[in-house]
Amino acid sequence: MFSKKFWQSPWVITIGGTIVASIGIDSITNIPLLTSIFKLLTINIELWVILILLSIYIIVKKYAKLDMTKETRLINSLKNHRNDKIDGYNYLFKLVHRYDDNVDVEQLSISCPECQTPMTLVNSYSNLTARCPRCSNEIYNLKSLEDTKKIIIDNLNRKNNHK
Ligand SMILES: [Zn+2]
Repeated sequence: MFSKKFWQSPWVITIGGTIVASIGIDSITNIPLLTSIFKLLTINIELWVILILLSIYIIVKKYAKLDMTKETRLINSLKNHRNDKIDGYNYLFKLVHRYDDNVDVEQLSISCPECQTPMTLVNSYSNLTARCPRCSNEIYNLKSLEDTKKIIIDNLNRKNNHK
């Protein structure tokens, strides 16, 4: 019927072998071989997915907890603080998180009481002067830049400690 060469070809051996094996397994388990392999793989994939998701969840939860340190709470609150009232003046600034985990106040200015334009701060001798670029309004004898920055950060810390 078929030549000797046909029966010895790798295709026939592989496919024939699989069919014979699956018939054997199917007759024992009553589940078609390919279906049972597929089911096994599916279960394994699902288990892996669950395990990976579970580990990600645990890691994220752990880091989220660690993340909520006093420092981070402060930094989070920084994002919402860009002005502060000191001595009746509305100070405008940008808060910067430094490498050493400290916070720095940058671009300090005062909102002009007359026209709300950010004023130019000029350090002269021992005190600070603010001048409005729009309406030329001037404010003298302000606290020094150094002191103002310290007060801004202290106000933030106080707010943060009361949370
Ligand atoms: Zn002004």
